[in-house]
Amino acid sequence: MNRTVYIEFLNKKPKDERIIALENYAKEHNVAIIEEEGLDFLKMLIQTKQAKKILEIGTAIAYSSINLALLSSDIYIDTIERDPLMIVEAKKNIAFFNLEDRIRLFEQDALELDVKRLSDDYDVLFIDAAKGQYRNFFEKYAPLVKSGGLIITDNLVFHDLLFKDYIKNRRTRSLIQRIKAFNEWLKGIDGYETYFFNIGDGIAVSIKGDENVRNSSKSHK
Ligand code: SAH
Ligand code: MG
Repeated sequence: MNRTVYIEFLNKKPKDERIIALENYAKEHNVAIIEEEGLDFLKMLIQTKQAKKILEIGTAIAYSSINLALLSSDIYIDTIERDPLMIVEAKKNIAFFNLEDRIRLFEQDALELDVKRLSDDYDVLFIDAAKGQYRNFFEKYAPLVKSGGLIITDNLVFHDLLFKDYIKNRRTRSLIQRIKAFNEWLKGIDGYETYFFNIGDGIAVSIKGDENVRNSSKSHK
């Protein structure tokens, strides 16, 4: 027994068999769904914030969106996925849980999607797609979040690859540089208060400030 195992044990709750089936599918097919601890953290944030409108970049098999939608019958999720295989699975799973009316799947590259098709008052944005594009996702989609809303970014340490001394693959090396650059950019940007957590694969929570308050406080200086 150690700290991690003990906390995991305390957190264990009976789980829907259909959710377990999604986890097994992800394991068998190497789909990078959110880790248990990260999901608990996300759920807790959504419940305390009483978030009702969520935007997700990176649906995969809809594991995270289904889990979040099941928190409450008045939660609505827009989620974006570009991989045709994942889209097939996500649709199947959303239908299996009868969540077609609360999870809207956008079958497109998030870098190309016309934001006019989305809302502009999300409570939470969850960024969980191609790690090298996080800054682009943030800049494109954070404006659709309400002031006081949250931008949550997953996989900040990229399976701990950030701390390896030697990475052979050049593309992986450059991806790691991009992730580091994003993390440090996120730490410094104006208009958001960001907290970094050693949870799951590393999660950041950025609270969007109120633009009016910010501008007026500046003008008083
Ligand atoms: N949020 C999911 C896991 C997502 S895995 C969960 O926790 O259950 C990341 C997904 O992002 C992959 O399915 C990948 O195809 C998708 N993705 C990566 N880049 C994308 C982009 N530019 N636009 C849309 N989807 C993207
Ligand atoms: Mg992830």
